[in-house]
Amino acid sequence: MTIETSTVNAGEFLQHFSARRDELLSLTRALCEAESPSGDAEGSRAVVGLLEEAAHSLEGFASWERTPAPKGYGEHFRLRAFAEGAKEERTLLLLGHTDTVHPRGTLAARPWREEGGKIYAPGIFDMKAACAVALEALRACVALGARPRRPVVLLLTCDEESGSHSGRALVEEEARRAEYVLVLEPSAPGGRVKTARKGTGLFTLSVEGRAAHAGLEPEKGVSAILELARQIERVASLARPEVGTTINVGTLSGGTHSNVVAAEARAEVDVRFSTLEEARRIEEAMRDLQPFDTRATVKVAGGINRPPLERTTEVAALFEKARSVASEFDFELGETSVGGASDGNFAAAYCAAVLDGLGVEGDGAHASHEQVAADRLVPRAAFMAALISSL
Ligand SMILES: [Zn+2]
Repeated sequence: MTIETSTVNAGEFLQHFSARRDELLSLTRALCEAESPSGDAEGSRAVVGLLEEAAHSLEGFASWERTPAPKGYGEHFRLRAFAEGAKEERTLLLLGHTDTVHPRGTLAARPWREEGGKIYAPGIFDMKAACAVALEALRACVALGARPRRPVVLLLTCDEESGSHSGRALVEEEARRAEYVLVLEPSAPGGRVKTARKGTGLFTLSVEGRAAHAGLEPEKGVSAILELARQIERVASLARPEVGTTINVGTLSGGTHSNVVAAEARAEVDVRFSTLEEARRIEEAMRDLQPFDTRATVKVAGGINRPPLERTTEVAALFEKARSVASEFDFELGETSVGGASDGNFAAAYCAAVLDGLGVEGDGAHASHEQVAADRLVPRAAFMAALISSL
């Protein structure tokens, strides 16, 4: 395929970010030091306030809005850049989130720290450094005149870590208009991007039987536990690990006393799949579950939660493009597929070309040693700016 290169070369992007390293670092630090665990409205608004402040450098090229999220989650941030006079109509969506999994107070226990070539801070890898990089990359496009052909939308939601309850609709709305989606989630080891993510499903299996005295008249009872145990074997046999479908019965409960035939029992089932076809097969099979003992009733609730991000030809082509841009920075961009889902999964249901895991190289997402590589901040930002301008 032909790669349309911007007239700005890799060296100029690198030079720009080398000169602006302090600004990039201080924005990253400010974002990390405004703690914003999911559901912390005040923290969310503080982070969005910082993003808005930084966005002023794009004045004249961008407009932005803060969308309040329900239930005290704070605000989603959406910025539109380069809309005026764009050659293409369909957008480039940069997708990320401002919430973290780290409870307020984590920063006091583990403050911002640079040591041994790493920068440690809660939420820096997932994904505050990437939020700063995205904004600074747009700024670089303006400063260097490396304007992308299409409008760019930067959408940073505030509830990704807790299931994207209100962010999901925004993600889907923007993905519908997008030609390409770049997801700012943490990169895989070695800075690799994620070209496939499994989808997830969550089912609850409830069985109703009939209680009876286990000693006096067990024949009058119908054990919900026995029925559920048999159903679990059946459900587990639906797995097809060879095509990526795995099934985990994660919780189990039921019964009241050891001397009572259990009248009820339930289990929660986590399903992961690589294709929508497999997701539908599982969903259908779950809906069709019939009781082994016809005196028992089996109810199934739940279903597909996140669709899979499949490595479509469009995903592969976008990856090739990114790889080619990375090579101009002497960086071999690798790819991988992962079992965990992100908002990239929701985007993939509406836009065929989604590339995930574009965050700065680092380690320890959600963990106490969460970090990014100090010397990768500038090259990653330069690469992102070049990639954005090439799309
Ligand atoms: Zn994340």
